[in-house]
Amino acid sequence: MSKILIVEDEKNLARFIELELQHESYETTVASDGRAGLELALSEDWDAILLDLMLPHLNGIEVCRRVRQTKQTPIIMITARDSVIDRVSGLDHGADDYIVKPFAIEELLARLRSLLRRVENSEQAIKQTTLEYRDLVVEKESRIVRRGEEVIDLTKREYELLLTLMENINIVLTREVLLNKVWGYETEVETNVVDVYVRYLRNKIDHPDEESYIQTVRGTGYVMRT
Ligand code: CA
Repeated sequence: MSKILIVEDEKNLARFIELELQHESYETTVASDGRAGLELALSEDWDAILLDLMLPHLNGIEVCRRVRQTKQTPIIMITARDSVIDRVSGLDHGADDYIVKPFAIEELLARLRSLLRRVENSEQAIKQTTLEYRDLVVEKESRIVRRGEEVIDLTKREYELLLTLMENINIVLTREVLLNKVWGYETEVETNVVDVYVRYLRNKIDHPDEESYIQTVRGTGYVMRT
C-alpha cells in the first residue's frame, strides 16, 4: 500500500483528498502547515507527497527545497494560481509534477498513479543495471566494478566471470557452465582456466584478511552466497 503525505492547510480540501485517496487504497497522513509537513516529510518514508504551495509557516517551495536537500521522495505541488512563475519555481526546486487548483480529483489521482509508476520503473531500471553483493557493486552499463569506494580494474574475462557469478547469487555454477557462459564455445579451453581466472578475480576483489567473496564448492564449481 502506498503511503502518501498530504500537506494542505485548507481543512476541507485536505479531508476531501484524503478520503478519495483512502478510497483508492492509499494510506494517508495530513499535515496542515509547512513546518509540520516538512518534519513529517523528513522523519518518515513516503511514496509521494502532495504539497500545497501556499502554506502557513513555510511555503510549499521552501518545504520542497528542504526535502530535496536529503530526500528524493516524489512530490506533486498543488498550486492555487495558474501562474507560470509558481509552476516553474516548484519544478525548479525539485517537484516532480504540479496540479492547479481547482482540479478534478480524477486528474490528481491520474497524476499520482503516473508518478508512482515512473518511480517504480526507474527503480527497476536501476536494479537491472546495477548488481550488488555486500559492498561489491557492478554497474553493467558503464562496466564499472567497485568494492566500497574503490574502483576495481578487471579484464574482460574477469568482468564476465564476476558478472556471471553475481547474476546467479546462491546458485553453484560448475566449471563447465562458467566456461560456457564466459568463454562461449572456445572448446579448446581447458576447464582449469576457470580456476585460474577465479584466482585472478579473488586477488582483485577480496581483502587479504577475510574469507573470499567467491566460495569454492569442492568437486563442483563456484558460488557467491548471501
Ligand atoms: Ca493553501
